[in-house]
Amino acid sequence: MGFCMKENGEKESQPYEEVENWPPYTYKEYPEVTAENIRAFTEFLNTENEVGLKMELQPWISFCDSRCTFCYFPNEAFSRKLVAPYLDALKKELMKYAKTRHIQTSVFDEVVLGGGSPTVLFADELVDILSFCRDNFNLTDDVMVKVAGCTHNLTAEKLQAISDFANKLDARCTQIDVGVQTFNDEIRKMLNIVDSAEEATNVIKTMRDMGLYACIDLMYNLPGETMDTVRKDIETAVELGVEGIDYYALSIHPETPLQKQVDSGKVPKLADSDTELKMYLEAYEILKEAGYKPTGHSRFSYVDEHFKENCVAGWPWAGQLTTGSGCFMGYLGPFSYLNIEPAQAYIDFVNKGAFPIAKLSRDTKEDTMKKVMMRLYVRQTVDKIKFKEEFGVFPEEAFPGAIERLVSKGLLAVDDKEIRVTEAGDLWRYNIIWEFCNK
Ligand code: SF4
Repeated sequence: MGFCMKENGEKESQPYEEVENWPPYTYKEYPEVTAENIRAFTEFLNTENEVGLKMELQPWISFCDSRCTFCYFPNEAFSRKLVAPYLDALKKELMKYAKTRHIQTSVFDEVVLGGGSPTVLFADELVDILSFCRDNFNLTDDVMVKVAGCTHNLTAEKLQAISDFANKLDARCTQIDVGVQTFNDEIRKMLNIVDSAEEATNVIKTMRDMGLYACIDLMYNLPGETMDTVRKDIETAVELGVEGIDYYALSIHPETPLQKQVDSGKVPKLADSDTELKMYLEAYEILKEAGYKPTGHSRFSYVDEHFKENCVAGWPWAGQLTTGSGCFMGYLGPFSYLNIEPAQAYIDFVNKGAFPIAKLSRDTKEDTMKKVMMRLYVRQTVDKIKFKEEFGVFPEEAFPGAIERLVSKGLLAVDDKEIRVTEAGDLWRYNIIWEFCNK
């Protein structure tokens, strides 16, 4: 992947002006829920799950006790008095799904506590919600348990409780996902990340000492970032031996405090797209050298589990049951949904006995074809024979010109059986899928 800028400063030819960092078909585009589409969703839930792929169960704890300036997740300030009614509502929502035919005929091989920051909860509350999932859903014998959290509130007691729970379940592995973003204290302070790099590092070491997988979020092209901080961040993660690094370019979302700070000049503007691209390539080289390989949409890892996860390999058929205030990653069959927020509105809605859905999208056959092509950005192949069986046409016929164009640019490789992204195309995988999904 030696492109971008020649030694003499001349620009080498690039397939696109800049790297896309955001995929199509996100919750931002879902239409409002209507009586008609919620009825269709409910009818779908009364049918058997015939897909036969393992699913992910993902209850969200949509609170956080900090306010990172870039955060766009549905977080409200943590309020202890909301915890009991929230967990009660979360269980009711989970139970409402658990009673449907579709979920009773589904099998889950991952339970993921997401959010938000689930680790704002006490250890026994974390275990309580995980136990509720175990007791009411069909989990595989080797289920994977994951808990997202923040290093500043992730005590050894909470880690031990999660580990003990997973050990009793005989989980395939237990993973803690933490947002580190950077090990540079100056940038951490600028982003209002509450603990220091040293404190975060100590928590990661504790996790790994307990035999838990540590999967960390790191971001690049942060305000004030240099090639030196990029290198140091990756080298620190490698030294710590973390099992996974989710590596993202910072994308500033409108209405976040960071957007306002950049607009007012309080924090430096981000580097341009060429520099951002160089940062990624630098990190990629160090990671490759250290034995990490890319997987999923943004992860680097060296452990087998990350290369076999159904939540990635099963896209877009497997399904993901996501619950909780503001959750936006759920999809079941052709339906994708976004839940009501904030927490009090969510609690009130669940207590009325209804699915707490704010936006609900239903895929057409054409949408599903495009979503199958989106497998390319999560580093999965597209099986041409399966595509033909499902849609009656080959991908080349469904998207005339697009595949040939991408092959001629060296971004895709195609044979009789499958389509895959090449190593040169890996960096441009988001751009590639937009070629199939532009309306
Ligand atoms: S700790 Fe995580 S969830 Fe909380 S504000 Fe920061 S990024 Fe958002």
